[in-house]
Amino acid sequence: MDEMKKLVEKLNDYAYHYYVLDAPIVSDAEYDRLYDKLLELEKATGIVLPNSPTQRVGDTVLSNFKKVTHKMRLYSLDKCQSKEALFSWMQDVREKEENVDFTLEYKFDGLTIVCTYDKGFLKSCATRGNGVVGEDVTPQVKTIKSVPLSIPFKGELIVQGEGMITLSNLKKFNQKYPDEALKNARNAVSGAIRNLDPKQTAKRNLDWFCYNVLYAEGKTFATQVEMFEFLKQNGFLISPYKHFKSPDDILLEIESVDKQKTTLDILIDGMVVKINQLNLRDEFGYTSKFPKWAMAYKFEAQELSTILKDVIWQVGRTGKVTPIAIIEPVNLSGATIYRATLNNYMDILRKHISIGSRVFVRRSNEVIPEIMGLAEELEGAKPIEKPQFCPSCGTRLVQIGALDFCPNSESCPEQIIDKITHFASRNAMDIEGFRDSTSKLLYESGIVKDVADLYVLKEEDLLKLPLFKEKKARNLLNAIEKSKDVELSNFIYALSIQNVGTKTAKDLSKYYRTLDELKVAKKDDLAKIRDIGEVVADSIASYFNNSKNITLIDKLLDYGIKIKNSSQTGNSEGIFKGKTFVLTGTLESFTRAEATALIEQNGGQTSSSVSKNTDYVLVGKEAGSKLIKAKDLGIQILDEQTFKKLLKI
Ligand code: AMP
Ligand code: ZN
Repeated sequence: MDEMKKLVEKLNDYAYHYYVLDAPIVSDAEYDRLYDKLLELEKATGIVLPNSPTQRVGDTVLSNFKKVTHKMRLYSLDKCQSKEALFSWMQDVREKEENVDFTLEYKFDGLTIVCTYDKGFLKSCATRGNGVVGEDVTPQVKTIKSVPLSIPFKGELIVQGEGMITLSNLKKFNQKYPDEALKNARNAVSGAIRNLDPKQTAKRNLDWFCYNVLYAEGKTFATQVEMFEFLKQNGFLISPYKHFKSPDDILLEIESVDKQKTTLDILIDGMVVKINQLNLRDEFGYTSKFPKWAMAYKFEAQELSTILKDVIWQVGRTGKVTPIAIIEPVNLSGATIYRATLNNYMDILRKHISIGSRVFVRRSNEVIPEIMGLAEELEGAKPIEKPQFCPSCGTRLVQIGALDFCPNSESCPEQIIDKITHFASRNAMDIEGFRDSTSKLLYESGIVKDVADLYVLKEEDLLKLPLFKEKKARNLLNAIEKSKDVELSNFIYALSIQNVGTKTAKDLSKYYRTLDELKVAKKDDLAKIRDIGEVVADSIASYFNNSKNITLIDKLLDYGIKIKNSSQTGNSEGIFKGKTFVLTGTLESFTRAEATALIEQNGGQTSSSVSKNTDYVLVGKEAGSKLIKAKDLGIQILDEQTFKKLLKI
């Protein structure tokens, strides 16, 4: 009950900002999420609070617009979030009426506008309001060029459609009036229609997409399709629609629209399925809020808005200082998110965000959530300051390109802690059970000052630390001992050399085979290695030119690290012996890392660019320029099937 009350209040507050003030304080996805939660609670408890937003279709009517009572009540749409739910709704309908067919339309994310025509002329226009009473916006809507001012049909006609701004018009507007730039198409429409000055409406070049005849004097329609045809004949801009019999086809079409929706020039937030035959609709009827003969499917939301609470600056193992956004926790695609990346200071400026403002957060396929931009500037929001000094050690930062670095690599605590964490990580020394918190604890207690100190840790030192009991201490010491036998490539990666990731570390280990050879490699020679450029070559050479780094390496070797030198061709017996592969496109049966491992296990190697030296190009879906180049050079192309056949997997 308490939760329901809170939800209702929150939603009403959000809706007030959205509908009345035209200034949303949450994203639509967030609103929908809370709304659905409330609906669920109401269903589960059977209790509906009198002020619940589920009890009204639209919202409060602004007092400074003339109110109009709709001749025909305007309904909302029932919604489902999953394709399964939509499918079973369609199946249920078919079970009741086997001859049913459906129309599939876009669910426009704009503002509902109802226009009444009489004797062939546009008489009045209104917003939806609460579905019973709306606002008179006749002069505003008359400015919309796609709303016909006169029509062939001479009886009274009431048409419903959605006021929209095309994304290209939005762009044009923003170019023409940069000071009034509109960020969001949906708000651009409602702000234009609910504007007391119709000139402002005209300026925005709206459109009106029609999808319903609410009333046509002396005329009846047999189907939705017929209705659309009638509208088209009378000069209305109609909602693009398709006509289907099979629920399977509808799902397929929805999937294809979902994939392409970002290429559309209008904003849609889902699709609407309607029973096509009007006589069948009568049998399904209405609830108090929506027709039972239509169902909206909302595309899955991956973007929400939340408050930016703070920005902290983190120093990484190479000294790079990066801003991290601390946000009011939100649930996004199934995970609670507390932090998001902001890349660098330029990125912050570009996104116009400030501490205390509301920002959009997105989590795409990549795991790291990102701040997309400003949703709303709130009162008291503070600008984000660019730090001049290292947040960890206080050293003045140096700027290299768009990035800031702490130059104090020897004694900057955060840098060293991150270096230790990296050193212990899976692709490096692979010290099992070692976490960020372990390095922090070891460093801050003073027993580990650099990565070499890990190899002289004693049980009694560990036992002095909080939370370290005998078992945990012994496990850690065993894991450290085990890490002493290490592949050359892992060891190179573990050193935290600037610009050297796992791939470069592997390339280096293959090329030089021993650490001693790598240590004395000249920059020019390094740059000759395939896939290693000037910048990377420079980082590597300067790392080994620094006597402090050499001392550290010697110390590690003294403490018993044994580097397994890499044999030049990996598995010399493999079927890909001596062959160089380039991977391109998206593979289906394995990740790129898995495919690379398979190639290497079988004696081959991989490279990132196609050249005369490439033996095979392994292509996945949507392969691009590399495939073209490979064809040009006449290099043998393998698809996944053939690749698997060769490997007998
Ligand atoms: P909602 O505002 O999310 O409750 O969704 C219901 C509203 O979606 C309706 O009142 C219409 O304004 C709007 N809508 C957008 N596209 C369509 C469409 N193709 N058919 C019917 N309603 C639509
Ligand atoms: Zn520092």
